Amino acid sequence: MKNGKKLKRTPQRDEIIKFLNGNKSHPSAYDIYKAVKKKIPSISFATVYNNLKIMVDENKLLEINDGEKLRFDFDTNPHDHFLCVRCNNIYDFPPSVKDFKYLKNFKIISHITYIKGICENCLKKEKEVK
Ligand SMILES: [Zn+2]
Ligand SMILES: [Zn+2]
Repeated sequence: MKNGKKLKRTPQRDEIIKFLNGNKSHPSAYDIYKAVKKKIPSISFATVYNNLKIMVDENKLLEINDGEKLRFDFDTNPHDHFLCVRCNNIYDFPPSVKDFKYLKNFKIISHITYIKGICENCLKKEKEVK
């Protein structure tokens, strides 16, 4: 474990974790800020953002760049993502690369892959309109 950087448990951090735990929507830093601010009105965006960055450094949180902003995932088990370009939802699916033999001499810290496309729900909606 790295020294010095580890943040103590704080009420702010607890609220952030409470919001993220079990949350499958892959919220952005701003989404998380808005939700936590309802519980702790005095919290600043910088505090939320710094906590998120530290948790990413500690491998307690995954960071996904959706092309516009960073999104966060409390589920750090290896899994892949499908990003819908219509509704912006991120869907989890099992890791497509299970065979890491090409990386056998490497140490994997995190596994983040995403596929861009249009999700089932959006495709259905588009068909209904036509
Ligand atoms: Zn969609
Ligand atoms: Zn995910």
